Amino acid sequence: MKKDLNIVLTCTTGWWNKYFYEEGKHREPCEASDDELERVYLERKRFLFEKFGEYGVGEEIPVRDNKITNVIMKWCVDFIPYILGVRLKCIEEGFWQAYPLAEDEIRSLKPVDIASTPFSEWMLRRKEILNKRYGSAVIGQNVEGSVNAAYRIRGEEFYFDLLMKKDLARHLLEVIAQTVIKVYEFFSREFDLKQVFLANCTNVHIGPAIYEEMGLPYDILVAGETKRLFSCEKFIYLHNCDSLTDKFVDLYKRVPYIYKIDGSHNSDIRKAKNSIPEAGFISIINPIIIQQSSAEELKDRIIKTLNGGADEIAVANIDPVTDINNIENLLKNITESCNEAGFNPVFDVVPITSDEYEWSFTKYQDNRVNHCSDDWRLLIPKAF
Ligand SMILES: [Zn+2]
Repeated sequence: MKKDLNIVLTCTTGWWNKYFYEEGKHREPCEASDDELERVYLERKRFLFEKFGEYGVGEEIPVRDNKITNVIMKWCVDFIPYILGVRLKCIEEGFWQAYPLAEDEIRSLKPVDIASTPFSEWMLRRKEILNKRYGSAVIGQNVEGSVNAAYRIRGEEFYFDLLMKKDLARHLLEVIAQTVIKVYEFFSREFDLKQVFLANCTNVHIGPAIYEEMGLPYDILVAGETKRLFSCEKFIYLHNCDSLTDKFVDLYKRVPYIYKIDGSHNSDIRKAKNSIPEAGFISIINPIIIQQSSAEELKDRIIKTLNGGADEIAVANIDPVTDINNIENLLKNITESCNEAGFNPVFDVVPITSDEYEWSFTKYQDNRVNHCSDDWRLLIPKAF
């Protein structure tokens, strides 16, 4: 019997605006509320069934499933920066504009215990509301990795600091790591903590030598200090983003407790799995590759990544350039490739984008500049 292989596709909000709303059959949420989110979620699952049902996507009669509508998430990649005092303003296109801190502000930064912030109050109120509504509440806050957070806090200057002001860079990375450890302690007290997410999307910008010197020690620190929060042996998900893992895996293997890693589908997956034994590998295919490849080329890429040892395939950020027909062809292509490589594809097209379920658009947020000292009652969606 063929082994199941999960394939997760996520589309951008722009994609949904074009192909879901522009048909005219559906209307956008009129307000940032759980009722409206649930309505859109169920309609989207039906839409996916109508378009891609033959590939097992969507639902003919959509039901509540406690997958997305019960997730608590705000500030996307700027969650840790927000906790550390970075001001954030919602932008028209979605998500947040971060106002980096100045050098003297960074020098006087100290780790923050999230339990003492107004934002922790907001999360606990949201937990209460979602528990009442769905019987569960999942913590989805995007904690990221130290270097990812540092460049949102300091801006692009951080890349200069990594080379020329190493003491400043190390101070910021240490403050972030200690704050992150406190965050996971809080999550493990209040929620069902499933994993620690170490996101290293920025590694492709800094290269393996700088990562080894400046970033890696903090990944090791966070992994070691959060071990006591888990009863299982492995709990680290190391996110390399859609770049090659080849030059980094010999460094990542020094981070303990990794159970999952991701990277470009072109990565040497065998090498990654030999370096980090027992870790699953999520193979990421960039939608631009899909646009630029013929059907044959794409098939070769998928078969190659499956034969290489991929445990899952992810196609993230599908934008409006990829239309309904393109997606249908993609599902067909992946199905054929999986069958050839001896797998049974199990598709999941995510019905709501993360910026949608955190309502990070100017039409739902006011145009305030948010700061971590703000009263939690000002935050949207409301938690009372
Ligand atoms: Zn990434």
